Amino acid sequence: MPFGESVVSTPSHCPFCNTRLRVPDLFPLFSLIWLRARCRYCKQPVSWRYFVVELITGILFVLTGLNADSLLQLGANVVLVSSLIAILYIDLDHYIIPDELSLTPAAVGLGVDLYRLTFLHTLPPQIPVPWFGGGIQVPVPGSVLGLVVGSGVLLFVGWVGAKMFHKESMGGGDVKLAGTVGTYFGLSWHLLTFFLVSIILGAAVGITLIALKRKSGRDYMPFGPMLVVGAIVVLLWGDVVTPMVVNMYSIN
Ligand SMILES: [Zn+2]
Repeated sequence: MPFGESVVSTPSHCPFCNTRLRVPDLFPLFSLIWLRARCRYCKQPVSWRYFVVELITGILFVLTGLNADSLLQLGANVVLVSSLIAILYIDLDHYIIPDELSLTPAAVGLGVDLYRLTFLHTLPPQIPVPWFGGGIQVPVPGSVLGLVVGSGVLLFVGWVGAKMFHKESMGGGDVKLAGTVGTYFGLSWHLLTFFLVSIILGAAVGITLIALKRKSGRDYMPFGPMLVVGAIVVLLWGDVVTPMVVNMYSIN
């Protein structure tokens, strides 16, 4: 994606000899071990990163499956987790988050919520509108609220950062990604925990890199990977982590 290649129309191929990979070359984890991390056709070394990504994806799929309460939720979570892993690695290398990777799960998050509201008759949150007709309650889908608040928080953080440091501190990709995660968590304590975990992780990684002299305080550090880890932590262990956060701030 960052090199402008399609992930669909040119099927998996060796980046060195361009040979199209066949079924025995495409088994996750096993093909790479069997071929000792070399292309079957031109013998060029294949990065072990494929192995790591496949392993992480597999582990996260299993954990997602254990957590999902319905087949619908499982499908939606698998789309989110797959996109998040790709975003993590692309943002680390290229400092960009491709729109396809954040907008696809956003569409799924909105779609699943609207499906539930329409066919499963779950009730949407009621938002008070005080200045309209002496005060009324307006139903708004949770995914829409999460989208607006999720992206809004990062827009605000980016605006404050730009004012303080006189340069762009939050990319448009980060804003969209936070909105995407918002469609899954809705306007909930999970959404707050997602932000707190991402920010605490970002601060910890930043301070560590500066202490190890790997980066200076002026260097750019992508925030997308922090959002990815925050989202996965809350998606998989939110029922444990979120109550801890809420109790810590006594905001129950
Ligand atoms: Zn090759």
